[in-house]
Amino acid sequence: MSTPRPGMPGATRTCPHCKTIILESASVCPACRHHLRFDESAIAGAKAKISPLHVEGTISPPAGEVAWEYSMVVSIKNERGEEVARQVIGVGALYADEQRTFTLAVEMTEATGSKARRRH
Ligand SMILES: [Zn+2]
Repeated sequence: MSTPRPGMPGATRTCPHCKTIILESASVCPACRHHLRFDESAIAGAKAKISPLHVEGTISPPAGEVAWEYSMVVSIKNERGEEVARQVIGVGALYADEQRTFTLAVEMTEATGSKARRRH
C-alpha cells in the first residue's frame, strides 16, 4: 500500500489534539471533533459530502449470571478483497442487564485541488 504524498487525495496527518491519523484535508477531526483550521470551501459547503455507509446496532449478552467480553473490530478491504486496515476499536465486558450500541459510519468528501483528478 503506497502512502499518498501531501496534497494528494488520501494524504494524512496527525490530529494535534488526539493524535489520531486523519485526512490532511479534514477541517474538523472526526475522532475528537476539534476544529483544526479555517477551511473556506468546507465552511461554505462547497465540497460535496456524502455518507454512503452508516450502520448501528445494539447488543446484549445472553441471559445468565456470567459476563461476556466483546471486541469491536473494524476492517477495510480494497476492490480485490485485500485487507488494507484492521483495528480493534474497543473492548469490554457486559452482564445480561447491560448493553452497548455500536455505530459505524463512513463519510466521504470530494477531494479538491489540481491533484484530485485521476491521471491516465
Ligand atoms: Zn482529534
